[in-house]
Amino acid sequence: MITGGASGIGLACAIAFANEGCDLVLVDIDSDELETARERLEAGNSRSILTISGDVSDENFVQSLPDQIMSDSGPINVLVNNAGISPKSVPLHEISYADWSRVLKVNLDSVFLMTRALLPQMLKAKNPSIINVASISGMVGLTKDFLFQAAYCASKSAIIGLTRQTATEYGEYGLRCNAIAPGWHLGTRLGESSANFAGEQELLRQRVSQRVTLGRPGEAHELAGLFLLLASNASTYINGSVIIQDGGWTSS
Ligand code: NAD
Repeated sequence: MITGGASGIGLACAIAFANEGCDLVLVDIDSDELETARERLEAGNSRSILTISGDVSDENFVQSLPDQIMSDSGPINVLVNNAGISPKSVPLHEISYADWSRVLKVNLDSVFLMTRALLPQMLKAKNPSIINVASISGMVGLTKDFLFQAAYCASKSAIIGLTRQTATEYGEYGLRCNAIAPGWHLGTRLGESSANFAGEQELLRQRVSQRVTLGRPGEAHELAGLFLLLASNASTYINGSVIIQDGGWTSS
């Protein structure tokens, strides 16, 4: 099950899982994009693709998900908490409380709600794995030549804490929980429209290229291997980890 699976990094993850023959459940608030994604994924090897349109920060909607997805395939093995939004880039003292709260609700509360709702059935699955999509902005501060997004950064940092606590509480039951912390990736709506760079793709590309040691931004599809690793038996001893993929941004 992938939240925010209709676009960008979530869709790249869905394509990778589809190519491996997984049954997929995609949850996204954008029903049109979800339909387009489903058509695209039908070309892969998935045995089944279920799309559910809704808001993963809405408690009632999330609570209804387990009943909507019970299928012949059994419980959810892998939950990818990926849905997220990026707010306007403004200094902290100019952020309205409403904007702060909206970002925390969509980016962080959704991870709690989804995990809480799906955990009971995942504990019945073989090698269950939760993969939370954080960000390097949850690990280091970002300068104004990129963006000022205190709420976004706080939400991503909190996802890392939630990941480690989930891993600690449920590891003994065989459930693993890890986070991926991407640097700047293009091929996504959020990555290309974020804050300072809406409509300024070339400037964005230049700034990121100067910042990272690999000299270029990432592409969403380059995260596919990490999702496959954390979802599969190739990572049965990885738990509570945060895996950075940022082209070297945070290493220099
Ligand atoms: P994206 O906008 O292309 O994809 C996000 C998806 O989440 C969209 O399909 C959107 O409709 C969905 N979504 C948003 N709010 C939702 C809600 N309330 N309920 C259900 N679905 C909702 O952007 P992306 O870059 O692919 O972002 C995916 C994740 O990756 C986000 O958590 C983002 O913070 C994280 N991330 C992205 C980058 C990057 O450079 N692109 C870097 C670090 C982290």
